[in-house]
Amino acid sequence: MAPATKREALAKLQGIVISVGYPDTWPSYTGLRVGPTSAYANRMAAIRNTTANQLAKLGKPQDNAEWWMVPQLVNAVNLPVQNALNFPAAILQQPYFDPRADAAFNYGAIGATIGHEISHSFDSSGAAVDATGKLRNWWTASDLAHFQAQSQALVTQYDNYAPFPDLHLNGQLELGENGADVAGLAAAYDAYRASLGGRELPVIGGFTGDQRFFISFAQSWANKTREAAERSQIVGNAHAPAEYRTLTVRNIDAWYDAFGVKPGDKLYLAPDKRVRLW
Ligand SMILES: [Zn+2]
Repeated sequence: MAPATKREALAKLQGIVISVGYPDTWPSYTGLRVGPTSAYANRMAAIRNTTANQLAKLGKPQDNAEWWMVPQLVNAVNLPVQNALNFPAAILQQPYFDPRADAAFNYGAIGATIGHEISHSFDSSGAAVDATGKLRNWWTASDLAHFQAQSQALVTQYDNYAPFPDLHLNGQLELGENGADVAGLAAAYDAYRASLGGRELPVIGGFTGDQRFFISFAQSWANKTREAAERSQIVGNAHAPAEYRTLTVRNIDAWYDAFGVKPGDKLYLAPDKRVRLW
């Protein structure tokens, strides 16, 4: 990253509004009438209430702490125009976070998710929005060129995955999300090592701290999907199927060291094929 871009990135990073668990101010449901007899009528009333709340914002200052997910949702989101992140309460439990687990577990799972969301502020769509939420590209041409070159390698990497004999993943469609997975896992690993302050975690269950970091990441993507649903996701969803998000590890040098992955192993990628976005 060029020094000028780095300055903008740091300003953007420092300005991120981080909301964890639930909003400081609950949305108002005043005026919303629901009853026990008609699910359809309840649904329509909820839509009308939401629309009215949105229209009431016109002409008023933007609230950067506003939430766009409910606390009960297992998910997380980056809100570019608000320069904000939401981490609902529901994702802050196993298999993503456990206050009793060690750093390897938590950085590998929720750490990678947090890294994923932060990194969206610094990808090709994050480049279009500055620290104040204005639509303004803040990257130099050389930063864009570097990002595009690494992006192309990631497109090719994911294009080569074929969950079904007649259906490959779409690396271009998934680029923003796969990029956030690579950048997020790399940052989570760095944060995990930094948290240890140079010491090593004990071996637990036969696995070193680094091994457990990557196992935790993989287990956070454990998933069961019907074939029809997976085919639909591949064609129309910007997120790769969970199994392929796990393969993000192929781009991280520390994963090769942790498990002794060597040329000839199924998931091995030569160092010059591993993608490093920043
Ligand atoms: Zn994402």
